[in-house]
Amino acid sequence: KYHEQLVELKGNIRVLCRVKPVLKEDQDEEGQSVVVTTDPNNESSLIVLSKGKSRIFELDKVFHPQATQEEIFQEIEPLVTSCIDGYHVCIFAYGQTGSGKTYTMEGSVEHPGINQRALKHLFSEIEERKDMWTYTVTVSSVEIYNEVLRDLLSKDGEKLDIKINPDGTGQLHVPGLRVIEVKSFQHIKKILATARRNRITFGTQMNQHSSRSHALLSITVQGTDLATGSKTTGKLNLVDLAGSERVWKSGAEGERLKEALRARQTHIPFRNSRLTYLLQDSLGKGSKTVMVVQVSALESNVGETLCSLKFAQRVC
Ligand code: ADP
Ligand code: MG
Repeated sequence: KYHEQLVELKGNIRVLCRVKPVLKEDQDEEGQSVVVTTDPNNESSLIVLSKGKSRIFELDKVFHPQATQEEIFQEIEPLVTSCIDGYHVCIFAYGQTGSGKTYTMEGSVEHPGINQRALKHLFSEIEERKDMWTYTVTVSSVEIYNEVLRDLLSKDGEKLDIKINPDGTGQLHVPGLRVIEVKSFQHIKKILATARRNRITFGTQMNQHSSRSHALLSITVQGTDLATGSKTTGKLNLVDLAGSERVWKSGAEGERLKEALRARQTHIPFRNSRLTYLLQDSLGKGSKTVMVVQVSALESNVGETLCSLKFAQRVC
């Protein structure tokens, strides 16, 4: 059902693909030959070799394995800027567990991902417009695991729920959700570090938690025109989706993976409805969406890679 909703959004969605580099730790398994290649002459196609056949996928843009965090962000930057003008924007990282979703969204200390870069960019844009506009930036962050919503900005990891706003507008809200006003770049880093730490802490309570949970960072940008007093509200939702596979590759589940690869079913990209509820005002008409499809280049993952790319082609 969510898949269909996404397909309907067709025109609004830009689909990027990022191929994860083959890391040392990926190489001690079998099936390590590289079967995914980018085309140096065509930045929108990706070639996947499977069962002796090569298949070509067309996307809006493909990033080769050596692409930097900076290059990925450059592609998204105009959308981030548009939030300041009042647009609603969603950016998703989609792909199997281990394909680099969290790296793309969160990144590391040395190589920050989209989340931190987006907030940094917002602040520098706001600074440039300060003679004409004044802005307030607020953030909240939740994790959704098995339909349970938890606040990633609160240590106790309280469970939250979505309610219809009593104000009569039909809008949804989440009572008790922490919403923090961001004041500076240092402050951003602190908030993102809290969310990351909490996601890890909540995760250790449940096996394979992070691969089955969505992490959502929501940024609201409210602007006031200093001359006229007119207001805008833009939104930026940054989503690190649960792993797109139906089975998990690590540990005891390895055997089941093989069975699953034999009996492949259709994908359900959003495993629960809480996520689409939360995003409903940002996935409609007039909003902008980017899906970053993450794929592994390795033969051992080719089944999931093909699934992810087929999914991507249906939405773009
Ligand atoms: P996912 O969130 O999809 O499960 P991760 O983002 O955790 O995957 O990536 C798995 C591992 O690969 C992590 O150790 C991550 O740091 C590393 N990784 C992913 N993408 C890249 C990349 N482009 N460059 C370097 N390391 C990467
Ligand atoms: Mg992850």
